[in-house]
Amino acid sequence: MIDSHCHLADPAFAEDLEAVVSRAHEAGVEGGLCVLAFGSAAEMAQADGVRALWPSLRYATGVHPHEAHHYAGRAADLERDLDRAAGPGFGYVALGEIGLDYHYDLSARDVQREVFRTQVRFAREAGTPIVIHTREADEDTVAILEEEGRGEVAGVFHCFSGTAPLARRALDLGFMLSFSGIVTFPRAESIRQIAASAPLERLLVETDCPYLAPVPMRGKRNEPAWVIHTAKVVAALHNLAPADFDRVVTVTFDRLFKPTA
Ligand SMILES: [Zn+2]
Ligand SMILES: [Zn+2]
Repeated sequence: MIDSHCHLADPAFAEDLEAVVSRAHEAGVEGGLCVLAFGSAAEMAQADGVRALWPSLRYATGVHPHEAHHYAGRAADLERDLDRAAGPGFGYVALGEIGLDYHYDLSARDVQREVFRTQVRFAREAGTPIVIHTREADEDTVAILEEEGRGEVAGVFHCFSGTAPLARRALDLGFMLSFSGIVTFPRAESIRQIAASAPLERLLVETDCPYLAPVPMRGKRNEPAWVIHTAKVVAALHNLAPADFDRVVTVTFDRLFKPTA
């Protein structure tokens, strides 16, 4: 199985990284995408530890909408920093997570839009897929993807928890949908319906750990091993055995996030 979105370089894993990685391997979680906070020296340092313990894990970095305020009015600086740290040749398989979050609004919305726009453009020019974080910002997210992506940028809507119309538009734009532990929650019937009706080969699953632990681990610190609980639920929605779902997801993941040389 693949955990298509985890934050193993988060301080939440600083103490017991080795045990967390062992449990992932014991659970049959062989690969995944580790998302790093853009420009964070602490995460970069911890990522070195993760690399040593889990060589096949892949990496992405990008300016999260929560952090967009650091680049308010500094589009040229952002472009320069992306060139220096996130472009081809730095070992990242994707730019992300990037997007818009109007739920928390930790950066001004116009700043979020500008930073997202700049990064989608960068991804198009670099030929890099993107990992999208979007919350309560459907219209603006889709508009920027259309305007700056121009149908040439691939990627995934991570931790999909939006509406059916947003899922439809994401799929129409050629994006994947990745489902987190939310899909296992009792009240998430609408999310399960979206996961059930999306084409199988456009689905990914993730933990987004340390957050959003799936049932039956809900409320605890999440970790990559537990993606199997989420995978089991999504597999069942498609009437598949977990092992068969695993095979499809692995192919989808490899096609989207091509390993770097
Ligand atoms: Zn996110
Ligand atoms: Zn994340």
